[in-house]
Amino acid sequence: MRENLTYDVFGRAVRELAQTIADDGYEPDIVLSIARGGVFVAGGLAYALDCKNIHLVNVEFYTGVGTTLEMPVMLAPVPNVIDFSDKKILIADDVADTGRTLKLVHDFCLGTVAEVRSAVIYEKSQSLVKCEYVWKRTDEWINFPWSVEPPVVRREGQIRDS
Ligand code: 5GP
Repeated sequence: MRENLTYDVFGRAVRELAQTIADDGYEPDIVLSIARGGVFVAGGLAYALDCKNIHLVNVEFYTGVGTTLEMPVMLAPVPNVIDFSDKKILIADDVADTGRTLKLVHDFCLGTVAEVRSAVIYEKSQSLVKCEYVWKRTDEWINFPWSVEPPVVRREGQIRDS
């Protein structure tokens, strides 16, 4: 079984997630997205929460459905969190599965920034991080609309004159 998220449902999910955060009274100064999947979530949350400051950290972990590198790794350039010392951070990602990716980014911020909380569309029961804000819990593999299809390939005869 798979959990299939469409762009339509994602639009509703991100608004509902933002509403939960607003109702809780958390007003982040910075939304820190975990690329690549978290970028979609961060953009939606930042607009819905009227937060103009988005940063990005690239983390590589999954190599396929259920297959991973030995550990998640942050790719350069890494944001300088010293600059965030008086800031309230909202980490945004698509899913906390094992939770190891979120833990890496959370620990990276902890002790340096004023406050850090996490928001995800999905959280799985095995996650070692319990996010403050979760739209839906599942233990299925999730098909996200941005990664369910393979990258586009260039078609023959599509060369533009420039
Ligand atoms: P974690 O470190 O929590 O195990 O995984 C974090 C990242 O792995 C997610 O941000 C996502 O990119 C990828 N990932 C983990 N579980 C799933 C899943 O069920 N479906 C998809 N498409 N990606 C996943």
